[in-house]
Amino acid sequence: MFIVGAGPAGLACARELASEFEVGVAEEHHELGNISCTGVLGIKSLERLGIDYKSSVLSYIRSARLHSNAENIEFSFSKPVAVVVDRAAFDRGLGENALDEGAEILTSTRVVKVERKGKRWSIKLLREGKIEEVEAKVLIGADGFRSEIALSQGLREKWKPDQILSCYQLEVNCSAELTDVYFTHYAQNFFAWQVPTGERCRVGLCSRGATLSPKSALKKFVSENGLESEILAETGDVIPLGIINKTYAENLLIVGEAAGFIKPITGGGVIFGITSGKLAAEVLKDASDFSEGSLSRYEKLWKKNIGREINFGLHFSKLFYSLTREELDKIFRTLDKEAVEEIKKNFSFDRHSFLLKVVIRHGYRIFRALGTRRSAELLGELRKI
Ligand SMILES: Cc1cc2nc3c(=O)[nH]c(=O)nc-3n(C[C@H](O)[C@H](O)[C@H](O)COP(=O)(O)OP(=O)(O)OC[C@H]3O[C@@H](n4cnc5c(N)ncnc54)[C@H](O)[C@@H]3O)c2cc1C
Repeated sequence: MFIVGAGPAGLACARELASEFEVGVAEEHHELGNISCTGVLGIKSLERLGIDYKSSVLSYIRSARLHSNAENIEFSFSKPVAVVVDRAAFDRGLGENALDEGAEILTSTRVVKVERKGKRWSIKLLREGKIEEVEAKVLIGADGFRSEIALSQGLREKWKPDQILSCYQLEVNCSAELTDVYFTHYAQNFFAWQVPTGERCRVGLCSRGATLSPKSALKKFVSENGLESEILAETGDVIPLGIINKTYAENLLIVGEAAGFIKPITGGGVIFGITSGKLAAEVLKDASDFSEGSLSRYEKLWKKNIGREINFGLHFSKLFYSLTREELDKIFRTLDKEAVEEIKKNFSFDRHSFLLKVVIRHGYRIFRALGTRRSAELLGELRKI
């Protein structure tokens, strides 16, 4: 088995597969760990997935404040609901687990070409300036946003501009304790954030279809909101929104962000990446052969497990970002205690479809400030999801 990409999806898959198969993983970077990532991960999901995350935790999130243009609402929970991890340490932990099971991880190794050779794959690697060839029975594309394996094998089209979240993040000195989420015009069709990680904060922003680059938008946002501080690091990256056309073919599976497995409401991809990596391994371990028919089970499993959540998130975010800044202010201003409590009671950090239940049940109260016609229109759209 050969896995392209040693992010969470590829490494989780490698760990599960290595107990039964010979597994190789190629990672073009010298070290593991996506440094652009904010590293906010839901605790319940990490525990459900059996991930040993504790040594990579920088801080715990128990409360968050959501800001509209002129209002804000704070959500506090009795226990932490999420952790902020150091992604390098987190991914290294996943890598060690995979190595312990017997997988081989080749860092500083870029997969430059894959070709079918009868029932096997020929994989060309660029390592230390030289091309090497390896062969494998099964290829797993875990190559993140670029998703070249899926593209080259005709499983997806190029991401369309409205499927791309463009992000920028700063690491700054700061003493904030609360996580802040800002629905601001600087983060068009998405949001900005400040997440404390101990003595530092990650301040970032993603936007979709914006004319201003995320870097310029973030710098303006930071200065306008008094969040300026000494910048210790800065990175830019992109996140895809939308699932690819097909995630399997004969001897081939696509996992993680490469397949578009992202929570559309937050842009988080680690948990769904690990989930899909594990599902892919389960299918390969159970399969009597690696024909397209046998591997189609993977698509059934992820659709049941995360597919509905992703589709919900795509529809919900479209509706949410159709609200004007004034409408969002009105909702925030009139959201009553009971609705906030209901959101908290049903809250799930990774399974956002809980929102549908709450919003439909309390919709007339949540949207009442927008008037009867607009409320009915929004609720009608929600019911179609
Ligand atoms: C600003 C920002 C903040 C984010 N914050 C969060 C967050 O708080 N929580 C969260 O859950 N998610 C977050 N994400 C998303 C998260 O980082 C990704 O969804 C997640 O890393 C996806 O995991 P993956 O394993 O699918 O892909 P990746 O982590 O992208 O791993 C893919 C790997 O494949 C390698 N690769 C690609 N092509 C090749 C090749 N040809 N040869 C060899 N190697 C190759 C890449 O180098 C990469 O290491 C954030 C993203 C951004 C941009």
